[in-house]
Amino acid sequence: MNNQQTIILGGGICGLSTAYFLASSGYKSTIIEKDHIGSHASAFAFGALDYPKPTSNNLKLTDLSLLGRKLHTNLSKILPDQTGINIGYRKRPSLTLLTKKTQYENFKQIFKNDEEFQLLNKKQTLTLEPRLNNKIFGSIYNKNRSDIVPLKLLNALQKSIENQEVSIINQKVSNLIIKNKSVDSVIVGNNEIKCDKLVIAMGPWSYKIYEWVGIKTPVSPIKGQILKLLSNSSELNYSINWDINYVDSKPDGLIWCGTTEEKSGFDENITENAKNKIFSETINILPHLKDSKIVKQTACLRPVTSDGMPIIGLSNQLNNVYFATGAGRSGITLGPAIGKIISELIIEEKTGINIENFNPDRF
Ligand SMILES: Cc1cc2nc3c(=O)[nH]c(=O)nc-3n(C[C@H](O)[C@H](O)[C@H](O)COP(=O)(O)OP(=O)(O)OC[C@H]3O[C@@H](n4cnc5c(N)ncnc54)[C@H](O)[C@@H]3O)c2cc1C
Repeated sequence: MNNQQTIILGGGICGLSTAYFLASSGYKSTIIEKDHIGSHASAFAFGALDYPKPTSNNLKLTDLSLLGRKLHTNLSKILPDQTGINIGYRKRPSLTLLTKKTQYENFKQIFKNDEEFQLLNKKQTLTLEPRLNNKIFGSIYNKNRSDIVPLKLLNALQKSIENQEVSIINQKVSNLIIKNKSVDSVIVGNNEIKCDKLVIAMGPWSYKIYEWVGIKTPVSPIKGQILKLLSNSSELNYSINWDINYVDSKPDGLIWCGTTEEKSGFDENITENAKNKIFSETINILPHLKDSKIVKQTACLRPVTSDGMPIIGLSNQLNNVYFATGAGRSGITLGPAIGKIISELIIEEKTGINIENFNPDRF
């Protein structure tokens, strides 16, 4: 193991993935997590490993997303052997429903040359899932999409890194001490922990870096809620999504559906309003689910940046601070790619992926 002290702030998917890829190359690190692993978005997400839809902003994410999905496929083979935990990885084709006529016409243009996506008309869509509301105009079919169970992935990453001497400290970091344009140590409680390199992977709480050391980090929390339904009807065969919503049968035997995009600060409570909204949107699209029972409701916070792009890489403003945050609605898909890139930057001081659009100093 390398003896440099790399400290990772945050034990969500970005922090754990960074520690995992560092450990895979013989580099030790310490994660500092204010709660326990699995208490925030990385554990309560839906778990879709989605292709970014080919809109102009999303095109900037294509390579990162490709790497993320490739690493998920690898992790799904390696982690069960290393840890005995099945992360629930499945190939799971998806239908993105077009609920307005104009959407169908627009997408016909956008998707015409894209091999990943196949545009289906209403009849073709209803043939695949006859229980859909027949007011839809069509769908985009993606046969290569996959998904995982986020909490299982976190548990497996945690077990794997703990087996490789990564320590996890369950305490809240309250500030950083700077010496010679570098972070010298992090403050937890009354203690200072020395570090050679520091990784910021605090999800929506990453904005704190501005308060601590003056680096603008415009990441905000956008709350999302999910319902888990028990239904007597047969499973869905496709993951279905439309507008900001989705619904799918998951390996736990429940139907997961969501979601909301709420600006309510750092409040992570579930709400009655969100429950009613998600349920009514879901049964509008899949009316047969109206008799299902809501058995669980969760809420968590996405880390969303002011320009919608993640923040990845070494900041110019301090010599040893790496950012691994701001992946918004795609953090589960992108998390392993972000962790891999940060590990390469720490070990080799370079990465094969173009991270220009994710530069921490762009704000
Ligand atoms: C409802 C919902 C569904 C989603 N579904 C999907 C999906 O299907 N596919 C997808 O790709 N993405 C999805 N996402 C997005 C994804 O969950 C997030 O982008 C991702 O989990 C963010 O990971 P992270 O590691 O950056 O942050 P987090 O998971 O928030 O982890 C950050 C960690 O830092 C810790 N921390 C913060 N401050 C401190 C401090 N001062 N000291 C120590 N520790 C600290 C926190 O406690 C936390 O554990 C979804 C999000 C939501 C809300």
